Amino acid sequence: MSEELFKRLPAIDKWLNSEIGTTLIAEFSRNEVSEVMRQHLIEVRDGIDNGLDELPDFYSPQYAALIRVDILRRRLPSFCKVINATGIIIHTNLGRAPLAEEAIEAISRVARGYSNLEMDLSSGQRGSRYRHVESLLCQLTGSEAALVVNNCAAAVILSLSTLAAHREVIVSRGELVEIGGSFRIPDIIKKSECRMVEVGTTNKTRISDYASALSSDSRVLLSVHPSNYKIIGFSEKATSRELADLSHQNELIFMQDLGSGTLVDMCASDSIAEQSVKKSIADGADIVTFSGDKLLGGPQSGIILGRSTLIDAIKNNPLLRGFRIDKLSLAALVATLRLYIPPNNPAERVPVLRMINEDVRIIDRRARNLLRQLKKIPGLSGSVVSDVSYGGGGVLPMTEIPTKVLHIEFANLGAGQLARILRESDPPLVARVNKGKLIIDPRTILSEDTNDVVRAFRQIVR
Ligand SMILES: *Cc1c(COP(=O)(O)O)cnc(C)c1O
Repeated sequence: MSEELFKRLPAIDKWLNSEIGTTLIAEFSRNEVSEVMRQHLIEVRDGIDNGLDELPDFYSPQYAALIRVDILRRRLPSFCKVINATGIIIHTNLGRAPLAEEAIEAISRVARGYSNLEMDLSSGQRGSRYRHVESLLCQLTGSEAALVVNNCAAAVILSLSTLAAHREVIVSRGELVEIGGSFRIPDIIKKSECRMVEVGTTNKTRISDYASALSSDSRVLLSVHPSNYKIIGFSEKATSRELADLSHQNELIFMQDLGSGTLVDMCASDSIAEQSVKKSIADGADIVTFSGDKLLGGPQSGIILGRSTLIDAIKNNPLLRGFRIDKLSLAALVATLRLYIPPNNPAERVPVLRMINEDVRIIDRRARNLLRQLKKIPGLSGSVVSDVSYGGGGVLPMTEIPTKVLHIEFANLGAGQLARILRESDPPLVARVNKGKLIIDPRTILSEDTNDVVRAFRQIVR
């Protein structure tokens, strides 16, 4: 029986040269049509192996329509907008910070035409792209000088390789962490051609540990925000002030990699107690690095603050050209930073801060409204439950912001299956799955996306 079916499958050339083949090729390309046809044949063969006992009519206009839909789907760009229903506010896999309206407009203005990216308009001479942002950063943080690069990883490598190549970088064993993907502090120090000197222990490093490690080759005391990692309980670390004092007594540079630095003294909700960039500078850090697209709420970028002699040296490092920020990110960064200038209230204008600060009573109302709409879908049931949202993105990992979430069930589908179908809707909806439950946290859903959330659930019925 199945032998018979296999024999009746069309040969690819014959199918391509048939009437539906030629029509499709006229509309698309021979390559695309042939690839989709091949894919269909593979699926039909699979089907036969699994008990399919009747072939479709491969030469019918209905079948041509199926192939057409598949070709169009393959033509959609794979990189697209998604809806974040995970409640993780700075989600690296989902592109970190959504930008403020002002930043989006700035990108669009600069992208559409030419700009004075590297021209000093008063002299008509070549200027520096960094001057558009340096004084703004200094004004907002109290730093003497500033520089921006492609991301925070680049900021760290560029700073270390400029300031401490072939010299010693002293760092606590408690801070030799891996931060997402492939950013491991020991590897970064090595790649920057510095010699790493580890001090203290995993859980306790005192200022005396740093002091006793100093040598004539020491150049930088490095403190790294441990990001996704936290030691709870029996632990101790030196304060920024102590590290700065020790560095300066010994003519060393105190460098602090904050990762997710913030320009506000966190926040109305008090739920995230991050050290602000201003405090690092005030405590005496000579170099501070942080990301533009974490708590700052801007585009991908790495910000370096510090003393002007050091920043000047970094600006002269030939690696800077390899790490430089592009004009679109620069435009967005400047626009985002301007939202921090009083009397602007960044907590209202910067999406990341707005999400962190959104009152749980408002989230509760949004959750109930959403559930009311979703319950109209046949087969769907759900409830509103207290839970927590997460800062994400290397913000203190234990940071939990009280929230209200939806638990959704759908007929006999498992939570994993449900989540997968939602990820395949247009636009994709990314939910959280925990202990067999599908969880939707309205905190990270932009209000303009609510209808698309409902639509994503409706298409499950189909
Ligand atoms: C996130 C992070 C980085 C890397 O920042 P990117 O902008 O992703 O390059 C570096 N250091 C710390 C402490 C971080 O949290």
